[in-house]
Amino acid sequence: MADELKENKQPLVLIVDDTIKNLQLLGNLLKESSYKISAATNGRQAIEVAKQIQPDLILLDVMMPELDGFETCKILKSMPETKNIPVIFLTAKVEAEDIINGFKEGAVDYITKPFNSYELKARVQTHLELKMSKDLLNERLLQLKKEKNKLNTVLTGISDGVIVINNDLDIILFNPMASLLSGYLGEEAMDKKYTEILQFIPEQGSKDNNGDFIENAIISQKTQDLNIAQLLITKNNGKIPVKGSASPLNNEEGNVTGCVVVLRDISKEREIDKMKCEFVSIASHQLKTPLTGIKWMTELLMKQSLNSDQMEFAKGAHQSADRMVKLINELLDVSHIETGRKFDLKKEKVDIIKLLESILQDLSDNAQRKNVELLLDKEIPAEMIVDVDKSKTRQVFTNFIDNAIKYSKGKGKVTVGCRRENNEAIVFIKDNGIGIPQKQQERLFEKFFRADNAVLSETDGTGLGLYIAKAIVEAHNGSVWFESAENKGTTFYIKLLLK
Ligand code: ADP
Repeated sequence: MADELKENKQPLVLIVDDTIKNLQLLGNLLKESSYKISAATNGRQAIEVAKQIQPDLILLDVMMPELDGFETCKILKSMPETKNIPVIFLTAKVEAEDIINGFKEGAVDYITKPFNSYELKARVQTHLELKMSKDLLNERLLQLKKEKNKLNTVLTGISDGVIVINNDLDIILFNPMASLLSGYLGEEAMDKKYTEILQFIPEQGSKDNNGDFIENAIISQKTQDLNIAQLLITKNNGKIPVKGSASPLNNEEGNVTGCVVVLRDISKEREIDKMKCEFVSIASHQLKTPLTGIKWMTELLMKQSLNSDQMEFAKGAHQSADRMVKLINELLDVSHIETGRKFDLKKEKVDIIKLLESILQDLSDNAQRKNVELLLDKEIPAEMIVDVDKSKTRQVFTNFIDNAIKYSKGKGKVTVGCRRENNEAIVFIKDNGIGIPQKQQERLFEKFFRADNAVLSETDGTGLGLYIAKAIVEAHNGSVWFESAENKGTTFYIKLLLK
């Protein structure tokens, strides 16, 4: 602290004594300690000077005419500008009563005359250091208060819910937006276990539940993103779709002291999504009727006696109408999935081996055109009865087999097989085509996703087939996965429950 005294500024000491000789003596003594000195010869003058120069310490003589030291001290301690300046009394008086009096008026110390110069310097230094520490502390407190106010303004103004949780899993900060989202007031949420206030359930139609992202952030000490929306259960049992994150909080030593949770209300996004899906659904339905008309007309046209050019044109028109019907059906399926509606499955007992044979039959022309050998695996069972929606299952298998043909290259070979594993039927479709680039494999079932090599080899495609197929299989409580190597081939697997 003494070093800080030297470093910061030269402390200023005001000496008050009505005897000039004493003033000189004290002044010279204190200058040795490199203090700046100011002097006053009576109480009134001392008050005025103290107000003006704001000394760091006052050495105040008690026995002075007019206003004595005690009176002067009383006035100094009553004024906001001077009340924090430490005062040391200097006097020949040594009665206990006088000492008590001095302290009562707010003095920090009392030195009797004649004084020992070493003792005087030591006491002055001690009180100056104390004063400096106090000033520093006050300054830090003020700074802290300012920082806290700044933080509060940010937390109040921020449009995300911000919740801070300590290591005991208690909520220690709950900003106004968190209150607005959850319905809990800050004071209701504070000091409660976060699990009492923040409860999540997966959105309708979503199988993924990452609602324990807060716990995971605390356990793993890594930021966890809530990138799959969850429904936050509000105080009055409402449900608000939210996204956000939970990040561990570290102290200066790097130890985790808790976790900060940020939640964003995505109700508006969900509303827009819903409107978009409804629009797609209505537009698709409206488009379907005239398109079916076109398809019929071209079919009728093809039955007429046409010359070869005319037949080509009619066939072209028919194929285009077919592709559009397929696309519209896909868009309808997507809007169905996106709005969280369950597929209306009409389940029945279906022999999927027969179903696969029939699909292979349908796609045989297509395979021939692409020079692809399309075969059933030798070990395929004679029969495999599964309780599924026949038309939707046909749609799924057709999509996978059609893709296997479409993404074949050169002289391709597509094998379709099925095996039984415990209580499950596993259908596989294996090709030796272009494969799926390793770095794009994790995105394969995303809506509209098409791998770079697929776009190059086959311009015609929407990237919707796999997304829909996966949703249909999952609606049957089944699953899909694949193995693939670029330029070697791909095998897709579809698992369906037998009972
Ligand atoms: P589309 O075939 O219309 O592009 P899909 O949703 O059926 O849409 O397939 C999505 C993407 O998955 C394809 O664009 C392609 O990149 C990849 N893919 C699917 N099946 C295969 C396959 N058998 N071989 C290679 N890539 C495939």
